[in-house]
Amino acid sequence: MSLSCDLSVLEELTSNAKQIQDDVLTKILKANANTEYLSRFLEGSSEKELFKKNVPVVSYEDVKPYIDRVANGEPSDILSGKPITAFFRSTGTSSGEKKIFPANDNFEDILLGLALSSLIMSKHVDGYKQGKVMIFKFIQPISTTPCGLPLAPSITIIMKSKNYRSPGKRSTTPDEIIMCTDPKQSMYCQLLCGLVQRDEVVSVGALFASVLVQIIRILEKYWKELCSNIRSGRLSDWITDHCCRDSVSIILGEPNPELADLIENECGQESWQGIVSRLWPKTKCVETIVTGIMAQYIPALEFYSDKLPIVSSIYGSSETFFGLNVNPLCKPQHVSYTFLPNMSYFEFIHVDADGEATGEIVDLVDVKLGAYYEPLVTNYSGLYRCRVGDVLHVTGFYNNAPQFRFVRRKNTVLSIFVESTTEEDVLKALDRATVVLESSDLMLTGFTCFGDVSTVPGHYVFYLELKAKVNNDTNVLLLDEKVLVEYCCVMEESLSSFYRSLRRKDGPIGPLEVRVVQQGTFDSLMEFFVTRGASITQYKTPMCINSAETLKVLEDKVLARFFSDKSPPT
Ligand code: AMP
Repeated sequence: MSLSCDLSVLEELTSNAKQIQDDVLTKILKANANTEYLSRFLEGSSEKELFKKNVPVVSYEDVKPYIDRVANGEPSDILSGKPITAFFRSTGTSSGEKKIFPANDNFEDILLGLALSSLIMSKHVDGYKQGKVMIFKFIQPISTTPCGLPLAPSITIIMKSKNYRSPGKRSTTPDEIIMCTDPKQSMYCQLLCGLVQRDEVVSVGALFASVLVQIIRILEKYWKELCSNIRSGRLSDWITDHCCRDSVSIILGEPNPELADLIENECGQESWQGIVSRLWPKTKCVETIVTGIMAQYIPALEFYSDKLPIVSSIYGSSETFFGLNVNPLCKPQHVSYTFLPNMSYFEFIHVDADGEATGEIVDLVDVKLGAYYEPLVTNYSGLYRCRVGDVLHVTGFYNNAPQFRFVRRKNTVLSIFVESTTEEDVLKALDRATVVLESSDLMLTGFTCFGDVSTVPGHYVFYLELKAKVNNDTNVLLLDEKVLVEYCCVMEESLSSFYRSLRRKDGPIGPLEVRVVQQGTFDSLMEFFVTRGASITQYKTPMCINSAETLKVLEDKVLARFFSDKSPPT
């Protein structure tokens, strides 16, 4: 399929979802039926019925030995008829575990998905096509597997692939800057280019909201220096990457004291409320994913952008690209993703309210409105009926393609006794407790949690990075004990009834604790993961931390601790 497309392609794909899914499975089986993996079940047959009857539903751990064998140098036809040419490193699950997924070098479908997403934005956002986007992107250094194949996050591999087409002049950032693998230099230069072209910017974003919030923090730290660069027309000396220097210099141009004054005036104001729309006045929307675990950043982004629409445009993973938000200006709580049937062969395991599989497996076009499912992916590069670990809720259909709300990752994130607290439970509690913070003018800018079983009884610990909405000169965060204890209590009241029943006096779970950390702690956490190979673009703050090494990053920065002072009502 050609990449230069229009929105009729979306109509065609979604109208013919059943036929396209059928064709995708036929193609995959024809190419892969003789792989070692599949031939155990199919004996070379590419019969779809046999595939469904004999090939087991698996999780990543079941395929991992095969993936590792290819990564270690055995021929790729163990898994895939088409050569495996690279490995995608996923950011893993909420528990932070990393996975690698085989990929072959045909990214046309993914690029088509991205092109469609951009067309949808042009259709829904007035003037989008005429302006520039300031979407922060980062690539990681590419490492190699033991057999020498490239290994990096999917976005890095795709952006470096031969068929990737850069947005060119549609973006404020030249490709050379994105290709710089030093995140600090890249971020600074991307900000500088965006500030210089502020009058043309119609959209500000980053793939995930956690990254965008971090970029705003970098702006808070560096705005004086950025203004000084603009004033003098000279880039700071610490930007040593030659490609960055060359391309920023062209954009920076002559000294521009008027622009520097203007930016200084906005950034120097007491409150940063609406800073995005103040610095980039033609911005129509903030493009960043705020569904799932990213929902925690909605209040911060609404504050900085003065409630510009926040657009969650795509849903994808290292396993496959899933779908698009065809209604980009809807409220974050109403976002659903329309699955694109050409991406992979999709099946769905029906799950109950707790995310437990009930056993029934259906095809893409047979999912039922209102039901919850976990997707299974069969792709071209060696995954067969592999569970993704996300829980999705069917909210409608676009033509014949189902639309799903992202509910959560399946894993339990906290469990001290026998209760199972999921991402969704935590996010719900967080959402309710945010009201307490707002009443005292505090804003949550970073969050993660962990189940502390070193105390008896064990208890839930929430690390919060907070920021005052109004800057005070001292930059000291004033923490009101009453507010934070109330925060702990509201969190507990909002957790599941089972949790609350276990939190009774002398029960098996102790009072919930909040540890407020210094500003910048979550940046350090991200740096910690990035130095260990995580992608900045795909980075998501882990919802829950369970490694001692990672906890140390947070523990070193704890400013104050607060505990819930009463058992929650059951
Ligand atoms: P990765 O393989 O590192 O790209 O991580 C993929 C995972 O990120 C998915 O399985 C989801 O759990 C999460 N994810 C990706 N896109 C979205 C989205 N639009 N909304 C919520 N979660 C997402």
